[in-house]
Amino acid sequence: MKTIAVIPAAGSGRRLGTRTKKPFVLLGGKPVISYALKTLNGCKSIDAIIVASERSCIAKVENIAKRFGIDKLIGVVAGGKTRFKSVRNCLKKIGPSFDIVLIHDAARPFVDEDTIERSIAAAKKFGASVVAVRESDTVKLSDGRFFVAKTLDRRKIFRAQTPQVFRYSIAKKAFARAGSASGLTDDASIAERIGTRVRIVEGSYGNIKITTKEDMSFAKGLL
Ligand code: C5P
Repeated sequence: MKTIAVIPAAGSGRRLGTRTKKPFVLLGGKPVISYALKTLNGCKSIDAIIVASERSCIAKVENIAKRFGIDKLIGVVAGGKTRFKSVRNCLKKIGPSFDIVLIHDAARPFVDEDTIERSIAAAKKFGASVVAVRESDTVKLSDGRFFVAKTLDRRKIFRAQTPQVFRYSIAKKAFARAGSASGLTDDASIAERIGTRVRIVEGSYGNIKITTKEDMSFAKGLL
């Protein structure tokens, strides 16, 4: 079975408060995106990599790939206004020659090979998988007006990360049927909408997504 990794790396990254776009901000002297690219490139189950980036940054991604020896990169496509559209642009480019599609945020530099391999194995077996960690705080569902509507059962709560992995046929169908996918914040929920059972694969708390300045400081501490 052939597997392709899709890396959404477009978007403004405004919440980080830097001039440089998030995937290119330096972390330990290297661009944030280079970490995920290197780890994915080194995974034996991954055959190819495709990235969605801002149109003006396509050459930048290609240069980083050259510099870090990312020989599995087969293309960089222009991203869309939302993460969903960026992933969809990549899927449009991928032909049915791939059986498995793994989606991983460029902004998650600390994903490890073992998690990637387990998420791919789960998608091969069950059709779809999402890497997630158990919630350690008690979670309150609000009524939208700062009152507690319900306390959720913490033992059943997981926080979704990436990778999120799908059989190609499921990803293709789910994204085609998603419309504008407004309000859907991850790929698994797009597949859930068409009735796909998504297997949870336990990941690690270190697999953070860099969104804010605080995340960046935390990430430096994890290096
Ligand atoms: O904005 P957020 O941090 O949730 O983005 C998650 C991932 O999706 C990041 O790697 C970001 O580069 C990517 N993204 C994208 N296209 C957008 C918005 C975000 O590829 N329009």
